[in-house]
Amino acid sequence: MSTVDNRIGFVRGEFVSLRDAVIPVMDRGFLFGDGVYEVTAVIEGRLVDNDHHLQRLERSLAEIGIANPFSIEAWTEIETELMRRNELRNGLIYIQVSRGVAERAFQYAEGLEPTVVMFPQFSRVQSNPVIETGGRIITVPDLRWARRDIKSTSLLAQVMAKHAVKQAGVNEAWMLDGDEITEGASSTAFIVSASNELITRNLSQDILPGITRRTIIEIAKRHGLTIVERPFSKAEVLSATEAFYTSASTIAVPVIEMDGVSVGGGAPGPVFRSLYDAYLQDIMTQPAIIS
Ligand code: PMP
Repeated sequence: MSTVDNRIGFVRGEFVSLRDAVIPVMDRGFLFGDGVYEVTAVIEGRLVDNDHHLQRLERSLAEIGIANPFSIEAWTEIETELMRRNELRNGLIYIQVSRGVAERAFQYAEGLEPTVVMFPQFSRVQSNPVIETGGRIITVPDLRWARRDIKSTSLLAQVMAKHAVKQAGVNEAWMLDGDEITEGASSTAFIVSASNELITRNLSQDILPGITRRTIIEIAKRHGLTIVERPFSKAEVLSATEAFYTSASTIAVPVIEMDGVSVGGGAPGPVFRSLYDAYLQDIMTQPAIIS
């Protein structure tokens, strides 16, 4: 990373320049990936779906027995301060909580002080050109562990999947458990069937409960679409009228090709477009935190 990183982060209780921020090498996040994380989008000065992201953080922490160091209000205050100090109007806020610093041993003592790291990333989530052109995906085996509902910082399988994405020159990988799609490497997978059902995998320990997934389903219901939450196969993607994926960092991206084969007629579809537009419209009805 650049040594002229002028972003202000929130690291171990203080607002500091990322240039100067340090984490002890004995941090269990570094040694074991013993921690969880969250990513919230910032669009036009608004924190998107933030309460739901912070609730999922609370759940991830509880599932691995780390006490949540802050209330939702306190987290939001720090996020807001990061937006102000960095003049972050558009981008992402990353939050990571690891179990803390201790002698290296698998077993941990209760009551370690969790290590909190937060920083902004600048991007225009809502101005991704792939929205217009459509994205291409590959399928890869889902190599992850059996508790994918926890937003773990142990991301080696996703690092490998995203490297395959880069090598293939595509936009995303959808992960396969046998013949069935679990989810994207960093996104939730959706298809639209010939009978106009919106299909996405049901929540379980097999996938991350995507926050964007949640909001998109809410909007789809409002639009009168039939939602079916169940696993679907690779073959179903190829016969779908549309496919797309969702995440905080992309909102939603239409899929026009999978493993080199055309999907959804090879162009972004109307269901995707109406859900995407409604999502952005809903965000803009909320008051901005910074202008
Ligand atoms: N699944 C995985 C594996 C992810 O990493 C992400 C991105 N965090 C998602 C789904 C989408 O979740 P969200 O909409 O909450 O960003």
